Amino acid sequence: MQVVHLSVECFPVAKVGGLADVVGSLPKYQCKLGIDASVVMPWFDTSFVRDNAFDTVAEGSFYQGSEPLHYTVFKEREDKLGFPLYLIKIPGKLDRPEVYCYADEAEQWIAFQHAFLHWAKYDMGTPDIIHCHDHHVGLIPFLLRHSNEFHDLSYVKTVFTVHNGQYQGWMGWNKSILLPPFDTWRWGLLDWDGVINPLATAIKCCDAYTTVSEGYLKELYKEANGLQNLFRDQADKSYGIVNGIDTSYWNPVSDKLINYKYSITSATRGKKENKKALCTKHGLPDDVPLLSFIGRFALEKGADQLDRIIRYLFSQNQYKIAIFILGSGDARIEAQMRALKDEFAEKIGVYVGYNEALAHEVYAASDMLLMPSRVEPCGLNQLYALKYGTIPIVRGIGGLKDTVKDIAVEEGYGFVFARMEENDAEDAIMRALETYGDTKKWKAIRSRAMALDFSWDRSAQKYIELYNQL
Ligand code: ADP
Repeated sequence: MQVVHLSVECFPVAKVGGLADVVGSLPKYQCKLGIDASVVMPWFDTSFVRDNAFDTVAEGSFYQGSEPLHYTVFKEREDKLGFPLYLIKIPGKLDRPEVYCYADEAEQWIAFQHAFLHWAKYDMGTPDIIHCHDHHVGLIPFLLRHSNEFHDLSYVKTVFTVHNGQYQGWMGWNKSILLPPFDTWRWGLLDWDGVINPLATAIKCCDAYTTVSEGYLKELYKEANGLQNLFRDQADKSYGIVNGIDTSYWNPVSDKLINYKYSITSATRGKKENKKALCTKHGLPDDVPLLSFIGRFALEKGADQLDRIIRYLFSQNQYKIAIFILGSGDARIEAQMRALKDEFAEKIGVYVGYNEALAHEVYAASDMLLMPSRVEPCGLNQLYALKYGTIPIVRGIGGLKDTVKDIAVEEGYGFVFARMEENDAEDAIMRALETYGDTKKWKAIRSRAMALDFSWDRSAQKYIELYNQL
């Protein structure tokens, strides 16, 4: 079976968040299971693209409205990622350093989807399944069925995965002339509340849609930034499949990016050494518990709560604690974190920005990881943390609820809290600090966490079962 994953992020080619991690690892595990899986993404001017060899495999031209566009498809020569990787380059549209944040994003993603379909029709071969990831490629299921130009491909089944339902790719109807010619009687499939909504279009037109955890699917039925009725209406073709992690890359036993490698049996020593290295570098004490946060400074992640939580923790004298923050995003939160560093230089380390290697060091060095999220479709940070013996303290929503079991229940290995603004996070952290004081108990929890299997093996198989069903 031939499966093509379409996405605008894929680790290590271009990564902004968890979407890249999933698209960079799921196809590898599917290939191991005997599926012919590949990834097609836009060409970005990133170090991976500059440092690796590519062959030109196709070229073509089409019009976007009245603008002629020329595309080139490149294939990475050695399949270094464990699957074939294709990049589509379009001068003036898909040839830039950043994945997001350009004013002509709608034009960029429409061009990507058009170029992909053009290539698929004329030159690519015959995929059985096109697996689309997030709204950037949400128009594909519609165009396959309702654009005459691509009628030859209408037999191909489509799976659409919702990694984040908050972002929907809204664009005004004035952009409709940029799409490949389509059956205008079907305009209603593109529309939601008076604008073109690619996420809604995907949910209406795909053969099956999946969310990255079961808990998130149930939440989308109730609240989905305006699309909840649609998600419910199309529930018959919905599936919740939890994300996995790439344990060949995220694994303290073999991680090349951490200072000291360790396994379950050597975790006490290994984590101590990693903590010492990180804390020394950032002027923090290494003989107190280290609590960290890694992620986007966004409301979704509850990053606006960090200032309050951290000030509370530092005001509690019975517990000593060090904190490390790695993230970027909202300028106000970035300023808050810098101000905390100025005020509590010996207790908190702050790195504002994106730093993949530092993230590995922080997972390895920390005792606990805080995720006070408002929305968390799956969440990968808690899965990485567990693998590195770092105990997650999470708000019990979406994928966090599905993957983290509170220590209050049998075989628990984390701390789960319910409410956002009511000091629940502080209480959960205090519970964690108390438990940390009992060295034997903490070690048992850590061993349990590290022994859990969140690798892709099971979930990759579930996707294959879904493809077979289609
Ligand atoms: P998101 O909603 O941002 O996609 P996920 O939990 O699914 O959240 O995935 C986040 C991914 O991004 C993880 O691999 C995490 O380690 C990484 N990450 C987030 N922020 C940073 C940062 N500032 N530096 C390095 N890695 C980061």
